[in-house]
Amino acid sequence: MRLSYHSTRSDAEPLSFADALIRGLAPDGGLYIPDAVPNLGATGWETASDFTTLAKRVLRAWLADEVPANVLDEIVADALDFPVPLVSLSGEWEGIHVLELFHGPTLSFKDFGARTMARWMGHFLRQRGEERTILVATSGDTGSAVADGFAGIDGIDVVLLYPKGRVSPTQEQQLIVERPSVRTYAVDGVFDDCQRMAKAAFLDPDLADAGFSSANSINIGRLLPQMLYYIWAIKQLGPATVCVPSGNLGNLTGGLFAQAGGVPILRFVAAHNANDFFPSYLAAHPDAAFAPTVATLSNAMDVGAPSNFERLASIFGADQLRERILGCSVADDETVATMRAVAEATGYVACPHTAVGLAAVKCLREVGRVALPTVVLATAHPAKFPAVVERATGRRPPVPPALAELATRPTRVTTIAPTLDALKAALA
Ligand SMILES: *Cc1c(COP(=O)(O)O)cnc(C)c1O
Repeated sequence: MRLSYHSTRSDAEPLSFADALIRGLAPDGGLYIPDAVPNLGATGWETASDFTTLAKRVLRAWLADEVPANVLDEIVADALDFPVPLVSLSGEWEGIHVLELFHGPTLSFKDFGARTMARWMGHFLRQRGEERTILVATSGDTGSAVADGFAGIDGIDVVLLYPKGRVSPTQEQQLIVERPSVRTYAVDGVFDDCQRMAKAAFLDPDLADAGFSSANSINIGRLLPQMLYYIWAIKQLGPATVCVPSGNLGNLTGGLFAQAGGVPILRFVAAHNANDFFPSYLAAHPDAAFAPTVATLSNAMDVGAPSNFERLASIFGADQLRERILGCSVADDETVATMRAVAEATGYVACPHTAVGLAAVKCLREVGRVALPTVVLATAHPAKFPAVVERATGRRPPVPPALAELATRPTRVTTIAPTLDALKAALA
């Protein structure tokens, strides 16, 4: 059986994974979803000896009829070549396990999706003799993961737009290091200017030949690799609850695909910061609605209107989502208090995003709504947020070798005005 994909807004035109990946967004504005979720029962994921073996087995169930097994295996081995440790907390946090997803080159979980997707896209474009330019507007982790993931892939260029002076120094360093076939522009404006310029560029007739493609979190190609680490945790612990620090809900969608494929994830906790649309929706709050984004300490989760919500609602519907997922919204002061409490009780230093997850689990456990064991996904390395970590724990996190090395590399960035004309001139 060949797995096909269709838009959340119409099932009239089923298409292949390759087409869904290269298009990104459906022409009707919908997001691509699979017609069916493959059952993983016969893949042997339970007996995989390491993460890469597990990843190969699971992804074959999804992609075997479009990507030859040897190509798929090579891509997985090349893209996901970093450790995925499961760290068990102690003391009053016993039974809670932190799955560290930040050991890739840009130190956030976005490396899983971006690196794998880049290689799949490279494979399909080569097959078709086509080329593409990935255009990304970024306010943080996505840009560096995409730039790193796509750099050096044959047939693909990257154009990165970020708001000058409005990302953290660490994030900026990660965005502007020189990478093959990546052009980075610091836009004299805010993130919304960058996003507006990218959208306008996609539609501009003068730029039609540029072959723009996107790599943001609505791309189905980023979601499939985000199933793998949930399965890796369950393989080690058996049936468990998984708590996901969430923004656009792409990470959570990966987990729901794994669960729908038969992996025993007992419950999800969707842990959000003050941007609480999804927890309100799950609680069937009558006022739940998309809202303007609120700035918080867990800035990679500052999303007022989660882009993957349309996908989740379309695949699962409200009742199923409410049965499978508990929501929780955590304020900044609780986030900082949790970073401090966990560090004092166990020595574990969490980034502010991971701390939102830990705080949500603590809060839901106190009211008896979450059973152990529970896995909290650690979405970024604490060293990416030294100021918050120091404020919470009194200590600056040690700088990991990948970040230290970055500071020594040459950089390349051009400042441009926040207009489409300035972008056109820069690209000409
Ligand atoms: C992107 C990001 C998130 C949110 O993930 P979604 O898939 O958008 O829900 C959480 N934490 C970190 C560190 C991130 O970079």
